[in-house]
Amino acid sequence: ATPTALLVGTGRGAQLGILIKGPEVLETSRGIDTVVLDKTGTVTTGAMQLTALHAAAGFQEERLLRLAGALESGSEHPIARAVTNAAREALGSRRGTLPTPEGFTTHQGRGVSGIVEGHEVLIGRRTFMRNQSVELPEDVNGLLERAEAKGSTPVLVSVDGRFAGVLIAADTVKDTSADAVAQLRQLGMTPVLLTGDNEGAARRVAQEVGIDQVIAEAMPEDKVAAIRRLQEDGAKVAMVGDGVNDAAALAQADLGIAMGTGTDVAIDAAAITLIRGDLRSVADAVRLSRRTLRTIR
Ligand code: ADP
Ligand code: MG
Repeated sequence: ATPTALLVGTGRGAQLGILIKGPEVLETSRGIDTVVLDKTGTVTTGAMQLTALHAAAGFQEERLLRLAGALESGSEHPIARAVTNAAREALGSRRGTLPTPEGFTTHQGRGVSGIVEGHEVLIGRRTFMRNQSVELPEDVNGLLERAEAKGSTPVLVSVDGRFAGVLIAADTVKDTSADAVAQLRQLGMTPVLLTGDNEGAARRVAQEVGIDQVIAEAMPEDKVAAIRRLQEDGAKVAMVGDGVNDAAALAQADLGIAMGTGTDVAIDAAAITLIRGDLRSVADAVRLSRRTLRTIR
């Protein structure tokens, strides 16, 4: 491969909004046959909205939102932004009065914890609550199932070890994602949706954009294992993601592709960064790689 042709390809990529870390990346892109797509922030906008709030019996809605909003102000996760924005709006004129959490901790792919105004607050998925020994009322399962069936993302809240309520967030698919998946198929790639979110939300997004293969409820370490399994089955895998939780999977993939709108950790772990948060750039990158390598031979 002549270095000049690869450099020209890399320069062309930059014009298309595709930042390629080194000329050798274009060669690695050859033979990719499977594209694994993270859901939140990659296929969807990642601009989640809080759509409902269910306070536990004896727990005030306003207090639930205030404590949850305050804790989530420490997180960059789309769910966190939805909760914090909703809390700020609900608190209205007392804007900016959300207390600052102490000892804020992110439990990657599970939830968050910290102290707000002297109270220990946890927010996260069901298994996270169980692992932290929070007892959940029986009727909460039905509530979670209904939300998930609708394609939403519910999270649970506890205060001082007691269940305090459920917050329901929802996301929308980027209007370019379905076209991007169709283009990838046309290029002979198999698309796979990979997410830490629940099965219901994952299936709904997959259906909307035309993906058949779904891997849901994947912790960051499960994401790496999923990529490795595909590789062991003989696939050459590109992974596209944006989150801290995607970084290890991006590094494991034959080709890691980060959304430019995503976290620095993801961008650092990837060989390619898509400046516009548009998935069609993945198809552009594949075409660019093929064209460049054809020139060489
Ligand atoms: P994705 O793969 O869709 O980007 P993540 O791995 O980031 O999902 O998160 C998986 C799950 O972990 C979320 O659906 C949620 O239940 C929980 N979670 C992660 N971060 C937070 C947070 N900041 N607040 C509440 N729940 C969270
Ligand atoms: Mg994501």
